[in-house]
This record gives sequence, structure tokens and C-alpha cells, in this order.
Amino acid sequence: MKIIHTTSQLQQWRLTEKNSDIGFVPTMGVLHSGHSSLLKRATTECDIVVLSIFVNPTQFGDSKDLDSYPRTLKEDAVIAKKAGVDVVFAPTAEDLYGGVPKALRVEWGDLTSKYEASHRPGHFDGVVAVVDKLFQAVRPQKAYFGEKDLQQVSVVRRLAHERYSDIEIVPCELIRDRDGLALSSRNTRLSITGRISALKLFSVLTKAKKEMNKGADREETQRLYWAALDKDEELSLEYLRGVNERSFSPEESPEAWTHIVVAAQVDGVRLIDNIRL
Ligand code: AMP
Repeated sequence: MKIIHTTSQLQQWRLTEKNSDIGFVPTMGVLHSGHSSLLKRATTECDIVVLSIFVNPTQFGDSKDLDSYPRTLKEDAVIAKKAGVDVVFAPTAEDLYGGVPKALRVEWGDLTSKYEASHRPGHFDGVVAVVDKLFQAVRPQKAYFGEKDLQQVSVVRRLAHERYSDIEIVPCELIRDRDGLALSSRNTRLSITGRISALKLFSVLTKAKKEMNKGADREETQRLYWAALDKDEELSLEYLRGVNERSFSPEESPEAWTHIVVAAQVDGVRLIDNIRL
């Protein structure tokens, strides 16, 4: 397994793999089983797998969040090797962006203005900027993204539709810990009691899904569970909503909802989760 730190070295390597079918898994590192499931899928579907590990400054609104984001390249390399990764691409921000990292504004309607976008202004501008740079550098045939970040999958699909019609975006199933908590690199920052509070998100998603699928009024069910989480003092709820995964439009009729999405802060850690209806 090669570890490459500059875009120019990656481009040189890429020339030697002109005829290979390349699968790409972009991450910010601190690899866990959620990331490994993407890598496993990529290694079974492609000749060569490139994993990027890059904590992207332009997608963080809060510099404290960026600074406190864990960085564990050595441990990540061990996991990557075991998973069968061929190349780890871990550039510096200056190298990848070719200077001071910045992101242009992206306006793709509700997709880049609602839910995650409205609670993290500029977040998807940064995601689009970095995925665009990484796609240019890696030039994969397939790129794997986790449904843990459901809205991100749709944003990246839109990016591919606009600029990279030759790259197939492969959405991968959300992976949970044994207790149901959606795996996330941020979970390491939760206290024991914080983790118990965080589990309420999955519990509410599961109950709401069950009721909706049994025929309960979807809007009313959403409202009741939103109210329950909103008044819970152990967490700070940002949103709990039924959405259609393609549009992320708040105007979508409840019959067109494909998922329930939720975001909340626990212990000062921002968590997101979702469940398919
Ligand atoms: P991150 O390092 O958090 O930016 O995540 C890198 C990729 O792994 C993204 O496509 C995420 O959606 C995906 N990912 C992170 N956590 C999970 C999970 N629990 N299940 C599935 N995919 C995940």
C-alpha cells in the first residue's frame, strides 16, 4: 500500500494505472467500521482502491470544531492496509487547494439550503469544493459515500451530474454500533452519559418509522417525536424531519418521504442520524 502526500505524486501514480478500474473512498480519517464497509465494497467492485484522508478546512464553519477533529493517520493506515486499500492519499490543505483553501458558493436549491445546509452555513460549499478537487486528482470510475451523511450523498450526486458524468456515485448503507448508535468519528468525544443521551436519536427514529409504516399520520408522528426530543434537556435538537432523499425539500408531501433525518448536539458534539422508511 502506497501513502501519497502530494497531488503531483498522485497524478504521476495515476498515469501508471491508466487502464485500471479505480474505486475512491473519501474520508476525514479516524477510520471505523462505517468507513471499512465502504472500503470493503470498493475492494470487491474495483481493481484499485484509493482512500483519501483529509480533514477539509472549508467544510467546517467553526474553527474549534476543525481544530478538535481527531487526526490518527498511523492507525488509519493500519486499518486501510487490512481492508485492501492500494493508495492512501493524505495531502495538506495547501497542496490540495493549490494555495489558501477556499470554497465557492453552491446554490442547488433546497439540497444546499435546508437541513444540514441551514444548520451548517457553508458546509456543502466546502464539501463540493473538496470532492471536486479530489475527483480531479484521483479520476475514479466509482466513488463511495455513506448514507450516514444522507444529504451529502445527494449533493455529491448532483456534483457528479453537473461535472463528472463518468463517475458513478455509490451510496453505502449506514453502519451502527451494537447499541444502535450511528458510527461516527465524533462519537469518541461523547462521555458515557452523553452516549446514552445520543442513543435517544436512534430510538426515536426507530419508533417514528414503526408508527409511520403502520399507517400513522406521518406529519403528526413527526411533530410528536420532534416535540419529545425538543424538550429533552439532555440534548439540543436541531431538526427531526421526514424528507425525500433526492430533493430534501420541506415542501415534499409525506407520502414522498423516503427517510427521517435528525441532528442534535449532545455534550457539545454534533450528531446526525437517519432511518429509511
Ligand atoms: P467522514 O470521515 O466522516 O467524512 O466520512 C467519510 C465517509 O464515510 C462518508 O461518505 C461518510 O458518509 C461515511 N461514513 C461515516 N460514518 C459512516 C457510517 N456509520 N456508516 C456508513 N458510512 C459512514
